[in-house]
Amino acid sequence: NPILLWFRKDLRLDDNHALHAAATSGRPVIPVYIREAEASECGPLGAAQAWWLHHSLAALQEALDALASKLILRQGDAQTVLEKLLAETDAEAVVWNRRYDPAGIAVDTRVKKALRDKGIEANSFAGQLLHEPTRLRTGTGNHYKTYTPFWRALEHSCEPPFPIEAPEKLLAPRHWPQSDSLDSWSLPPTRPNWASAFAEMWVPGEASAHEKLEDFIDGAIDGYAVGRDFPDKPATSLLSPHLALGEISPARIWHATRGLAGKIPADNIVRFRKELAWREFCYHQLFHFPKLGSANWNDRYDDFPWHADARLFDSWRRGQTGYPIVDAGMRQLWRHGWMHNRVRMITASFLIKDLLIDWREGEAWFRDTLVDADPAANAANWQWVAGSGADASPFFRIFNPVLQGEKFDPDGGYVRAFVPELAELDSKYIHRPFEAPDDVLRRAGIELGKHYPRPIVDHAVARQRALAAHASLKGD
Ligand code: FAD
Repeated sequence: NPILLWFRKDLRLDDNHALHAAATSGRPVIPVYIREAEASECGPLGAAQAWWLHHSLAALQEALDALASKLILRQGDAQTVLEKLLAETDAEAVVWNRRYDPAGIAVDTRVKKALRDKGIEANSFAGQLLHEPTRLRTGTGNHYKTYTPFWRALEHSCEPPFPIEAPEKLLAPRHWPQSDSLDSWSLPPTRPNWASAFAEMWVPGEASAHEKLEDFIDGAIDGYAVGRDFPDKPATSLLSPHLALGEISPARIWHATRGLAGKIPADNIVRFRKELAWREFCYHQLFHFPKLGSANWNDRYDDFPWHADARLFDSWRRGQTGYPIVDAGMRQLWRHGWMHNRVRMITASFLIKDLLIDWREGEAWFRDTLVDADPAANAANWQWVAGSGADASPFFRIFNPVLQGEKFDPDGGYVRAFVPELAELDSKYIHRPFEAPDDVLRRAGIELGKHYPRPIVDHAVARQRALAAHASLKGD
């Protein structure tokens, strides 16, 4: 009798433990992807990631076709769909890889119990993370609340398991169950169809994830430790959206860095691994604090005096704040569904500290517009910037958007790429157009307030207001 292989955030054939278990079970394998009813603590699938998911599922279908297999698409409550498929196919077992977001855990626990109660074999495997979130523990047996000891524990614990290769064949069932057509799900956003430019930057799917990894290991990782902070440089791996839907496993990435020892300066390898460890730490937080996306980790921030202001929020979302590095970041996000990490920190700081808008508003906007939207990384990083998170950046460290721009985009190449109306502006003023003399602006063809906005807040004033708001909180 067949075995059902339930794909979720592991849309890959390589290093896929559930797939390996199914392929070696000796049974015919029926791969299935379920578009689940969404009831997540961390919110529903964002529109940008829906675009990615569509193309990723198409790529997975193709890869399975090449193994003379198929991907069955169904939608609805996971338990109901699986039980129906089991009945239709006479399958007697289901396997999947575990997920660690609260909604996912709740569904999986319920499904596993229901299936086992019916005498169906139901088994889950690891693979979304380097280590299970329960594995790394402090000396006293608790979970980690700060990153550095977490990193040390991760670095010194045994290596993540060696990746396993994709199977060369999958036994097909005698009859395939019916499948929805992928197009009928209408996943890519059409109104508005902002995803039209995503393809300039991205090719979703496992093959592309592996190409990115190879390119990075052969090139940009040598220089990553310094280069990673400069948004105009192709210095980072660009693996985040592939990781978000599990098109590549973190273990595959981790082990790819092993062969570099002695060939490139070690600080680059360590720095990159430390970022993978941040991803782990975010999941560690989400696992132990399931409300990470909706509640302050540090409840001292529950009384923070936010200023809801729809007009300012809209200027931020549209990249019309008058601060070029902020605007470039928000427009990169809109254009490509992605933003460089340094600029994510700057734009998030601007929303929270210059505009005093609740970090949850920013988290929700990023979740909807990022192709790499991730329930753990997004929530944990927003809380990190807000100061409310585990091991967060102290609130009083308020980024100055002009100085950040001048430090990390010194020639203004990043700003010019995403804020074309400033393209001709002298580099001296590219991050502070509001200080440029009239003749400089005229030569660049810019009239402030017409072609490009004046700053929507005065950073120096906003900074003092933010510090005062923070000082009003009780306790420390
Ligand atoms: P690289 O520099 O090549 O890093 C390799 C991998 O390490 C990344 O792909 C990612 O999986 C992980 N990583 C790197 N930095 C971080 C970090 N700070 N936290 C957690 N993991 C990290 N990342 C997401 O994957 N999804 C999100 O929804 C997300 N939201 C963010 C929101 C804010 C406000 C901020 C400040 C950061 C956010 N990040 C998020 C983290 C980070 O910006 C991206 O992971 C990174 O920019 C992805 O680019 P890359 O793959 O080239 O990274």
